[in-house]
Amino acid sequence: MSSCLQEGDDSIFRTLFAAYPDALLVVDASGCIVLANPAAADLLGYAVEQLTGLGVDELVPDAIRPSHAAYRAAYARAPRVRPMGTQMELVAKRRDGSEVLVEIALSPLKEHGLPYTVAAIRGIATYPRVRQALQRARYSEQLAQFGRLAVDSRDTDALMQEAPRVVAEALEVDVAVIYLCDAGVSDLRIAGGVGLLWGDAVGDRVSGAPGTPQGFVLAQTDPVTIDDFRLESRFQVPQPLFNAGLTSGVAVPLVDRRRPVGVVFACSRAQRTFGDEELRFLESLANLMMTTLQRISSEEQLSHQRQLESIGQLTGGIAHDFNNLLTVISGNLQVMEDAPAIASDALLQQMLGAAARATTRGAELTSKLLAFSRRQVLQPSRIDTPALLQSLTGMLRRTLDQHIGIEVEFSPHCPDCLADSSQLESALLNIAINARDAMPDGGTLSFGCRLANPPEALRADLNPTGYLAISVADTGFGMPEEVKQRAFEPFFTTKKSGRGTGLGLSTVYGFAKQSRGGITLESTEGKGTTVTLYLPLAQEATPQPDDADDSLTPDHVPPGLRVLLVEDDVEVRAIVTRFLESLRCKVTTCMTAEQSLPLLA
Ligand code: ADP
Ligand code: MG
Repeated sequence: MSSCLQEGDDSIFRTLFAAYPDALLVVDASGCIVLANPAAADLLGYAVEQLTGLGVDELVPDAIRPSHAAYRAAYARAPRVRPMGTQMELVAKRRDGSEVLVEIALSPLKEHGLPYTVAAIRGIATYPRVRQALQRARYSEQLAQFGRLAVDSRDTDALMQEAPRVVAEALEVDVAVIYLCDAGVSDLRIAGGVGLLWGDAVGDRVSGAPGTPQGFVLAQTDPVTIDDFRLESRFQVPQPLFNAGLTSGVAVPLVDRRRPVGVVFACSRAQRTFGDEELRFLESLANLMMTTLQRISSEEQLSHQRQLESIGQLTGGIAHDFNNLLTVISGNLQVMEDAPAIASDALLQQMLGAAARATTRGAELTSKLLAFSRRQVLQPSRIDTPALLQSLTGMLRRTLDQHIGIEVEFSPHCPDCLADSSQLESALLNIAINARDAMPDGGTLSFGCRLANPPEALRADLNPTGYLAISVADTGFGMPEEVKQRAFEPFFTTKKSGRGTGLGLSTVYGFAKQSRGGITLESTEGKGTTVTLYLPLAQEATPQPDDADDSLTPDHVPPGLRVLLVEDDVEVRAIVTRFLESLRCKVTTCMTAEQSLPLLA
């Protein structure tokens, strides 16, 4: 074709220049545009005339202008052909300030005797591959930002507000909602949302039944996409969703250790087909949320544990000292009762009796405090829990109000656990009585036991044999959050004075801990409460409980029995010695365990 072209006949080049699909700019040595084609005007948002005369620096985003000037100076010193695709993706600034991703090829015309450089510029943001990469980069950026927030967060509510915002922004959807299960999967709560449309607000409860969109997603293990709600047949689409003009949707279930606990749902008015990138984004966000929620809740549990721990140490110390005082008082009272001067005086006898009864009540109280602070004397043995539950529920059926139904459920091969059986019985009784108090109009009390590990934060030292979970659930009025937080504290009660002592759950807590197990409390206001005791399983070698009661009663103490008494409190030591001597024992006393060892030998 070159043979057809005549010297000076440049109309074909002009036409070629004008018709070329890439943007072409001819730039002089000072960086001034001398020629631009319509594709350049189009790409950069100028008219062709506006581009001629413009400095190329105008087309560079402000942030990279200095480095661009340096680059241009270097290029001017040693110009060379630079083809497309060799350079990183560059950014050009359009007239309206927006930025466009481009590839640029440079061809110096110096060798052809012209002091110009031709820049061929191709906008690449419209290539599918590039668009996808850009999209992915944007999603990663959003996730990274959300991740930073999640790592720092102590506040689940804030996280629940932020997550839907991130979803709406990243996926460019009109509605994004997070549903969480509180009690069971059939009952969801809107934990956060943007663009909430169908008459809902954060905090509202909604159904999680399988026929609802959120219930359907909850029952899935994989993400769900809805191209068009009008064609949906897997679940019933609520009318308000149509009224809001929503057309397409995408959702993922939130899963905590394979248990569905919620749903993230996003909907758009525009008809969309959500693809792999969107699903992956939503799944990553859901995972991030779940890990953060788990972390926050185990931190809360831990700090709650520590708080109870320190209350326990405090009350334990007080109870121990108080117990010593009571021992001295009651011991002296008993000795006085037998004194001849008093034995013959009816009034004094009466007064002594009242004082003794008061000390007994005091002793009961301190024993509960000692139980809470894990200092009660426990006699652990193998327990056949189903049998214990059968006998306990039998007793409860006879004594509780007829309006309270009692159910028991356990797996057929329930292994034995290791605990003090009478304390376990009294713990379950305590829990049952609380349940009764929470169901003044009747309800159902369900006992169950199964193999299950307690939540991580509750495991003091990992029991290699595993745990038995004994649960007591009621359908009573439940507890508000403030009560749930404090229910295990000694003396915390919401009951009228005379009805509650606030020592029920605290002793159960201490018992569970001292038995190397744990206890959890789940409660929803208006729905009910479930208390679960975790007790270590009995090892093969653990002996059966010993029925023979060989404790010594005063009547069976053989005269002249030699007793080694170890007690650090002087007054307690004195009164116990006197007491033992009255039983005709031969008493040797010492202060500490160390002192006692040589004496024993
Ligand atoms: P008390 O029963 O003497 O009040 P507890 O330590 O047994 O003391 O319980 C502390 C508080 O926890 C109760 O006052 C009550 O507010 C709450 N509580 C315990 N169990 C339940 C339950 N099953 N349902 C509702 N609230 C309960
Ligand atoms: Mg109670």
